[in-house]
Amino acid sequence: MNAHEQKSGILAPTVALQPGAAPAPGIPAAHPLTAILDVLHRGGRFLVCSHARPDGDAVGSMLALGMVIEQMGKHANLVTADRAPLQYRQLPGVNAIHTLRRIRGPYDAAILLECDSLERTRLSGLEELFLVNIDHHITGLEFAHLNWIDRAAASVGEMVYRLARAAGAVLTPQMAQCLYTTILTDTGGFCYGNVRESTFALARELVEAGADPIAIAQEVYFSAPASKLLLLGAALRRLKREGRLAWLWVTHQDMQRTCATEEDCEGIVNVALGMAGVDTVVFLRELPDAGIRMSLRSKGRLNVAAIAARLGGGGHQNAAGCTLQGPLPRALKEILTELRSAIANPKGQRFHRE
Ligand code: 5GP
Ligand code: MN
Repeated sequence: MNAHEQKSGILAPTVALQPGAAPAPGIPAAHPLTAILDVLHRGGRFLVCSHARPDGDAVGSMLALGMVIEQMGKHANLVTADRAPLQYRQLPGVNAIHTLRRIRGPYDAAILLECDSLERTRLSGLEELFLVNIDHHITGLEFAHLNWIDRAAASVGEMVYRLARAAGAVLTPQMAQCLYTTILTDTGGFCYGNVRESTFALARELVEAGADPIAIAQEVYFSAPASKLLLLGAALRRLKREGRLAWLWVTHQDMQRTCATEEDCEGIVNVALGMAGVDTVVFLRELPDAGIRMSLRSKGRLNVAAIAARLGGGGHQNAAGCTLQGPLPRALKEILTELRSAIANPKGQRFHRE
């Protein structure tokens, strides 16, 4: 890539890729990626969206896919129900993401990234569109017209990378920045999740293509607002431990007192997981509407997604979430009963969707 291309902005089409329904080299015709590429080649105007309360994978993979579509000489509208959290607002092109609740307008397809169900988008108006689902949650459902679910992928960004390669897109530094962010955040800094040898190979390739791992880590891990640390303090004062299990929570009042936002709750659960001997943690948060939001984490073989799915949520083996009815002591009792029983009887863990 030349200097002009680098400066020309991520949404400038650099190459108009060749249309064609033939499978990309190395991709079997029956692979869902082939059908997805076909949809992209045939259409002109796409909606790209992800789940409400978007995380690093949601934001980074949406931005990168938007760049691929623009490179194909097509148009992508990027939409989420909630805006990108502070630590992702430096990502290239992030201002192109619209925060909406209702989708309008004709699209050739809506591409949903990182959503294990349509409801998780919290967007209305999607039902009428041709839906493409690209996801890596173990609780992922084939809810769309075209579904590509790779439960071994470290992030949906990794899947978007494969799509970009299969489409013959140029891996720009901006795209690499976004995709590296998806891998860093979904593996908790290469600490858990689907970290494999190939994850590092991809991270290396993205850094070679222009991702700046230090700048990204600074934004993601070392740029917290004071409210986040104050809220963490409130949660840690309530930390409880029982053998391998730990739990902590914040009340709505804590949120108000520390001027915290929803985003400030991110990561609190992982701090408790840092305790030696603890391998399962739940963080609870009182919602203004009397619901109780739960973040579940494990660092062992305990499948917290199975527990979250049983309670109406979902996620990954080591990171999952759900929302229960309040009040907080009731919800805490319910989740602790589930977790204690799963710890005592790990083989009894099953998905209700199996
Ligand atoms: P977090 O605890 O960070 O909110 O969520 C951890 C993981 O669980 C994420 O991968 C997220 O997508 C998934 N998750 C969290 N809450 C829900 C939920 O209510 N429903 C489903 N299906 N997945 C969830
Ligand atoms: Mn993800």
